[in-house]
Amino acid sequence: MPPPLPTTAPRTPGRVTLVGAGPGDPELLTIKAVKALQRATVALVDDLVHPGVLEHLPPAARVVPVGKRGGCRSTPQAYIHQLMIAEAWRGEQVVRIKGGDPYVFGRGGEEVQALRDAGVAVEVIGGLTAGIAGPAAVGVPVTDRRWAAGVALVTGHAQEGGAGPDWAALARSGLTLVVYMGVARADAIQQALINGGRAGDTPVAVVSAAHTPRQRHALTRLDALTATVEAEALASPALLVIGDVVRAAPGWAEAIGSSYAAAA
Ligand code: SAH
Repeated sequence: MPPPLPTTAPRTPGRVTLVGAGPGDPELLTIKAVKALQRATVALVDDLVHPGVLEHLPPAARVVPVGKRGGCRSTPQAYIHQLMIAEAWRGEQVVRIKGGDPYVFGRGGEEVQALRDAGVAVEVIGGLTAGIAGPAAVGVPVTDRRWAAGVALVTGHAQEGGAGPDWAALARSGLTLVVYMGVARADAIQQALINGGRAGDTPVAVVSAAHTPRQRHALTRLDALTATVEAEALASPALLVIGDVVRAAPGWAEAIGSSYAAAA
């Protein structure tokens, strides 16, 4: 059990800044994010944040890891809310550092609401989201007008009790699909999209740990997606990028030969 938190009223005005740290490489931080980190007295840090990001914190800043890695024991969201509120009430300059962009599958909306409800001043500094910067890292422009009229950022991991995305509607949409948290469910996603009418030969990129030294990717087609994820052992954090825009990736022409073989 986490320790109880003080519930006293504010003395000096602390504040909370939600900072998007981008997909990995600390050089992808915005200047505004760096300035917020330099002012911080307390930092609440998610799992996927690169350690180099923390080098911008003052040496005296207190760093609290609050990771919530899928499947493992994690800090309950309600406790994170209480912790941010309590630290702000103590007068701390709190930064809440999140991978990518705080408002893209980052629970930024929930956290901002909890802080506003408690009367705590809050600011959000956006970051590069993995779903756009990750495909770009392997040469995929997600809205290349030759192939797509837009892009849908979707989760592959339905909220508990929730229905998850409408895969049949997405299959028919003609949009590039970028699936976060989807690699463990690649099989179900492949089936649902094909059942919904997306062509089996639709190009797919799987991008793992984009913008980190461990970055790897595979180019394949929708009907060979599961086989490719298994054969290449592509693990989380990873994105599925589904659509004709993947043709722009260097190596696409060579890759389709091997993925045709995997599908056969
Ligand atoms: N707020 C984050 C997303 C958090 S959800 C953002 O805007 O990027 C976590 C998921 O994001 C992971 O399961 C994975 O699908 C994706 N992700 C995050 N960082 C990634 C990276 N460096 N490479 C590939 N996928 C990544």
